[in-house]
Formats: sequence, structure tokens, C-alpha cells
Amino acid sequence: MTVEIPSPASRFLKVVCRCKNEQIIFNRPSTVVRCLVCGSVLAEPTGGKGRVKARIVKVL
Ligand SMILES: [Zn+2]
Repeated sequence: MTVEIPSPASRFLKVVCRCKNEQIIFNRPSTVVRCLVCGSVLAEPTGGKGRVKARIVKVL
């Protein structure tokens, strides 16, 4: 599931990867953020606004 974050505010998100690994990521990454366990892309930079590709379970 792909979720776009329209808010310009910087936030940290808790996401769950397909491998069930929970990871804290920044919603506007400057580089591709990968799962530390399986290497799947969790978030990627798209212009000024990041795109979160993992499932968001909590906004911190
Ligand atoms: Zn993973």
C-alpha cells in the first residue's frame, strides 16, 4: 500500500514492513529508506515530499 503524506510538516512514522519488522522512519527522507531486516524500500524521496511505501501504524 502506498500512502502519500500531504502535510509539509516533518514527522516520524512507525511503519510495518512486509516482513513484519517495525521501524521508525522520517516521512520526508532525503534518501531511500530500507527495511533493516529484509531490505525492502519503506520510503523514498519524491521532490520535497517523501513517499511512504510501508504500512503506517503510528505517527509519532
Ligand atoms: Zn522488511
